[in-house]
Amino acid sequence: MSRAVVSLNSGSSSIKFALFTLGPDGPQHAAAGKLEGIGTAPHLVARDKDGTILIDRNWDDGSGLGHETLLHDLFAWAGDHLPDPDIVAVGHRVVHGGTKFFHPLVVDDALLAGLEALCPLAPLHQPHNLAAIRAIRSLAPDLPQVACFDTAFHHELPEVATRFGLPRALHDKGIRRYGFHGLSYEYIARALREADPVLASRRVIAAHLGNGASLCAMRDCRSVDTTMGFTALDGLMMGTRCGTIDPGVVIHLQTQEGMSATDVEALLYNQSGLLGVSGISSDMRALHKSDDPRAAEAIDLFTLRAAREASALIFSLGGLDGIVFTAGIGENDPVIRAAICERLAWLGIAIDQDANARNAPVISTADSEIVVRVIPTDEERMIAIHTLAALTPAGGQS
Ligand code: ADP
Repeated sequence: MSRAVVSLNSGSSSIKFALFTLGPDGPQHAAAGKLEGIGTAPHLVARDKDGTILIDRNWDDGSGLGHETLLHDLFAWAGDHLPDPDIVAVGHRVVHGGTKFFHPLVVDDALLAGLEALCPLAPLHQPHNLAAIRAIRSLAPDLPQVACFDTAFHHELPEVATRFGLPRALHDKGIRRYGFHGLSYEYIARALREADPVLASRRVIAAHLGNGASLCAMRDCRSVDTTMGFTALDGLMMGTRCGTIDPGVVIHLQTQEGMSATDVEALLYNQSGLLGVSGISSDMRALHKSDDPRAAEAIDLFTLRAAREASALIFSLGGLDGIVFTAGIGENDPVIRAAICERLAWLGIAIDQDANARNAPVISTADSEIVVRVIPTDEERMIAIHTLAALTPAGGQS
């Protein structure tokens, strides 16, 4: 029987998971999957490490099934079908650790209460993270669970970079910049240290471009600035989120357009970004396929916003030595990478078109003044690494 760790990333309508067996070289990827459509039409697909489908299941009339029931089914399936793993712990992506929690922590009642108190800071995400922790507690009360925080990588941001130009009392109440996608950036920092230690010690922008998208300015692999702030709405334009906008727009929508806070929330999180601007899709692949000029304009705005935000981070870094692209778009989309780099050509970036088309690890030319790399992210592996560390006596406790 092989010992294993499960990584879980539980969102509002989906749960991503991965199983890692524990070998002498650390966690080895054994299986991964996604349960989508929670609340509407649940659909589970899991694959083994070679990509072979292990399960592809729909639930008949599954609209009423919540996270708990579905996790129960998922664990029952895993127990019956996976090669007899001895699951020693479950690690979770928890979106918000606030100002108090940044080391990965073994979950107990006090921690759960502390994380519950942070729900108002991330009401669309945190409750689902905690629901998964509770569901597993009820299924397996003795199984250790570890919370890994998406804000943690940014917790050393310079104090001044955490402030808004708002009254101090609001900052003291927690209305400040936190930053997100930290597990992804932490993985990228580790991978970059292995692949290119010289670049890793310098000034790098990591660009996590997926449905959610942000940039992180890293010096010697530490976050010194990032584009997401108080919430995951800030910064770049994303699949369905607006990114940075004039806050006066929010006031106008409420006072002049008669929108409620809930309407505005739905607009800014779910109906904006690539979807809102194109009126077609939030999916970059669909926009590339379209010959509608609105799709082209949405793509243009995506790359403009990315280059503009990158330029601000270059100021924070005092210059730039490298860019690392990651996540769905960053890892797979040569057109977007080239367009962003073209907008930053004033830095002396030169892209090797052939390497870029192949999603090669290095896509800049030998004489480019900035090294441009592509590194696939692996938040689930980062969670597994943290989970193991938190379970060892010296690891993880703050
Ligand atoms: P999430 O934030 O949901 O984890 P992903 O990192 O999976 O998102 O990124 C989803 C985005 O990546 C979508 O816009 C999708 O179109 C894009 N994407 C995925 N694969 C490709 C590809 N081969 N070419 C272009 N875009 C891609």
